[in-house]
Amino acid sequence: MFCKRCGTCCQKGGPALHIEDKHIIKTYVSIDNLITFRKGEIAYNPETGQLIELPSDLIKIRGNKKDDYTCIFFDKTTSSCLIYEHRPLECKLLKCWAPEEVINIFLKNLLTRKDIFDGKLLKLFIDYDNLFSLGHIKQLLIEKEYSSLNTVIKQDIMFRKKAIQLIKSYNLPITTLNPLLGRPVKVIIKGLTKIFA
Ligand code: SF4
Repeated sequence: MFCKRCGTCCQKGGPALHIEDKHIIKTYVSIDNLITFRKGEIAYNPETGQLIELPSDLIKIRGNKKDDYTCIFFDKTTSSCLIYEHRPLECKLLKCWAPEEVINIFLKNLLTRKDIFDGKLLKLFIDYDNLFSLGHIKQLLIEKEYSSLNTVIKQDIMFRKKAIQLIKSYNLPITTLNPLLGRPVKVIIKGLTKIFA
């Protein structure tokens, strides 16, 4: 078997990034092309076929627009990868007819936000994780504390507004918010509601 470059795997979503991919960040993949799924978010485990709570950050190359998971580097007109020579480890290992190699590195040596951000931005996401931990959000959902959840959503919006000011002061695109803080609490709650509420 060989890769027919059908693009199906790239249209299912961008790859998770590992320490081995650190050198392509900023050089071939800008930070705002990434999205962080935070510790405690729900993810599909390809090894077991079960949903799991992420034991740590998982950073992926983001989709090209809202509700389209196609990797931002996939060129649909030519069915090709725009960074093929520098594509991430998972893309190099993936053979859709034999996915074992990619499955074997699931959650191993993952790139984290500490590998990407430093200074005030690093401090900001650490503060954010302390204030908006998934554990706390889940607990409120389980206890059906909907009024408290609404308060958390509003606090999250306020925090993000401040974060955008800091991001702008570094001349970074606003979409840097996606890897820096991960998905908004409101979006996370929507997903978790199906499981915990
Ligand atoms: S980086 Fe390239 S090979 Fe990997 S999923 Fe995106 S388009 Fe496909």
